[in-house]
Amino acid sequence: MSSPSILRVVLAGPLRGYFDYTIPPELSQFEWQPGLRLRVPFGRSSRYAILLEVDETSRFDRQKLKAIEAVVDSIPLLSAHDIEFLTWTANYYQHPLGDVLFTALPTRLRRGEEPLKLGQSGWQLTTTGAAVEIDSLKRAPKQRAVMELFQQSGDALGREEVSACCGKSQATMRNLVKRGWLVCCELPPQPAQKYQPSELPPPLNSAQQNAVTQAGKGLGSFNCFLLDGVTGSGKTEVYLSLIEQALQQGKQVLMLVPEIGLTPQLVQRLEQRLSTESVLLHSGLSNGERERSWHRAASGLVRVVIGTRSSIFTPMPDLGLIIVDEEHDASFKQQQGFRYSARDLAVVRAQREQALLLLGSATPSLESLYNVERGRYQRLELPERAGVAKPPKLGLIDVSNIRLDGGLSPQLKTVIHDTLARGEQVMLFLNRRGYAPVITCHGCGWLSSCQHCDAHMTLHFDDGLLWCHHCGQQHRKPHHCPDCGHTELRPLGQGTERLEEVLKQHFPDSPLLRIDRDNTRQKGSLEKMLSAIESGQCSLLIGTQMLAKGHHFPNVTLVGIIDMDQGLFSADYRAAERMAQMVMQVAGRAGRAEKLGRVLIQTRHPDHPLLQLLIQKGYAAFAAESLQERRACELPPFSYQALLRAESTDSEVPRLFLEQAAKQAHQLSSQVEVLGPIPAPMERRAGKTRAQLLLQADSRVLLQRLLSQWVMQLNTLKLSRRVRWSIDVDPQEMI
Ligand code: ADP
Ligand code: ZN
Ligand code: ZN
Repeated sequence: MSSPSILRVVLAGPLRGYFDYTIPPELSQFEWQPGLRLRVPFGRSSRYAILLEVDETSRFDRQKLKAIEAVVDSIPLLSAHDIEFLTWTANYYQHPLGDVLFTALPTRLRRGEEPLKLGQSGWQLTTTGAAVEIDSLKRAPKQRAVMELFQQSGDALGREEVSACCGKSQATMRNLVKRGWLVCCELPPQPAQKYQPSELPPPLNSAQQNAVTQAGKGLGSFNCFLLDGVTGSGKTEVYLSLIEQALQQGKQVLMLVPEIGLTPQLVQRLEQRLSTESVLLHSGLSNGERERSWHRAASGLVRVVIGTRSSIFTPMPDLGLIIVDEEHDASFKQQQGFRYSARDLAVVRAQREQALLLLGSATPSLESLYNVERGRYQRLELPERAGVAKPPKLGLIDVSNIRLDGGLSPQLKTVIHDTLARGEQVMLFLNRRGYAPVITCHGCGWLSSCQHCDAHMTLHFDDGLLWCHHCGQQHRKPHHCPDCGHTELRPLGQGTERLEEVLKQHFPDSPLLRIDRDNTRQKGSLEKMLSAIESGQCSLLIGTQMLAKGHHFPNVTLVGIIDMDQGLFSADYRAAERMAQMVMQVAGRAGRAEKLGRVLIQTRHPDHPLLQLLIQKGYAAFAAESLQERRACELPPFSYQALLRAESTDSEVPRLFLEQAAKQAHQLSSQVEVLGPIPAPMERRAGKTRAQLLLQADSRVLLQRLLSQWVMQLNTLKLSRRVRWSIDVDPQEMI
């Protein structure tokens, strides 16, 4: 019988399928384990690969197989268990496994670099060093002190321990190593730090207590709860209590938060309250910091991981509790490349690990509410704000026949004035950064459109630029109209910069702060701004959605939504849901302490039925009604969708490709509906023409069966080489 000598791997990058390699003679004794990174020859160059299995035979001609070039790791980065989960993920999202596996690794490791060492470097005695007579070192007091320290301790010691005893001693250490008395070594990694919580938890109210008891019973096996609690109802306290329970049972905890939800405030709160060190994983960290945290979680040293979407892939050997905070948030869905939903994967992972899953939100997604309805999740309610805060009052301002002054109605201006006069803070939301979303020519009506997209270019006054928010194209604001030469170019509509200007004119004595992506790029700047708000240095706040989540500002009593109407009449059937969630999140910023909060929404459509329902009956009623509509129209979550997108610089090719793809899909299954092709809502973007094909089925299994065959066939279409295509399973946006 032949011995196992075939290495089956997947390659880094978007290549589908497995590849077989042979073992070079110098590695014949190596102990192969799945999850090791290898370097393999591919075409004329080489690539990094991950080993999946070792086999005796190959379906390829053995003579033509090449040997691998090198093994990068001595121990696998991913366990067999991790690889299984990632393989499931790759299959479900129809994405090449190699790309999925490498995406799950920290950045440096994707590039084939050596894993960072977890333990710091230090020194230890050699046998010669151990035998040195201390008294023989009388004339070198520094060396004597160090050698004495090492001989007495007998252990390896780090820089800090040495300098604590003997002061700074770099040169001495070098000398002792040179003399062969000490050698450099790696110290064992530090275990997770234990903390004495600096703050005691408040006594939980009965709703919180009930939630903790119910969910706590679910620890130890797969159970899924929806923690449905209005903003400020104390969900975080419930999380903290369950995290402590899980830790006591020896489990690890993974908490996912939205991209902008990972605020310094939340982190600080967790750190003050948990009894153990937690690590953060998010894009604001350096690659090194992130990788070190990743290794500490993967080795089980660290017990609590808090992170954004991609943390769902962090290897955690004792995972027992997953929390997804603000589970409705769109940032849990990756919209490019490997398109996955971290929220949905949390369910799958919890099931595989027999872990407890807690999805929390003040505005649960319709998907999750439907899962409660069908008995898949249990709902835990926190119907009231914790502590003294009362729910804010919501009201509409009809601006359909009103002349707005820089976006502000007279009514809103008056209320802002009164609020400021009482010494309270005002927060205004406008989800459009820049000065104005478009400029127009007074002479001929020319509009500042992007040359590469079906979109307008936004005026950014601060830097005098016209800027396309879709492709990134920028140029200087023209002095005269490119069409007719007229010099009067006017901004149309409102952006946060313009709102800032208008407010400064009206309320010159109230310190104002604008928070959007444009002025928070610098590291630490958001933190600075948040603390300026907290300390009361600023009384007027303007923000985009960035400001809507998670923050807790006790002195904000008035929240104004400047323009509500973008979400009401969209082609995307999810737009209303997102609008309602945004309103409730934003409203959640008002009146979070003793003072009553008020929310005013400017709209040109005050009679819109969904808006009325939301204002009068609240989110739950809105969601129930929206679910009925989805059911009637057989839209998700009552059906399952996948979107095939195609784009090309050639304006005809995407449609032609999708027509052929549609034919293939029809042949593969008659039970899956194929809709389109149709142009994408933004048909031209960054110079490419974009089109899409929608697949819809009553059953996930039927849809999946078709998709897995279809992705293999799509590449056989000749036109597939002239387009860029991608599949989005459970698409969230139709853009
Ligand atoms: P959520 O996460 O639901 O928005 P938080 O957990 O942030 O709510 O709680 C909102 C505020 O209420 C916080 O200031 C918190 O300290 C306070 N709080 C939470 N639970 C209690 C409680 N049981 N008693 C008193 N205050 C509480
Ligand atoms: Zn003109
Ligand atoms: Zn553009």
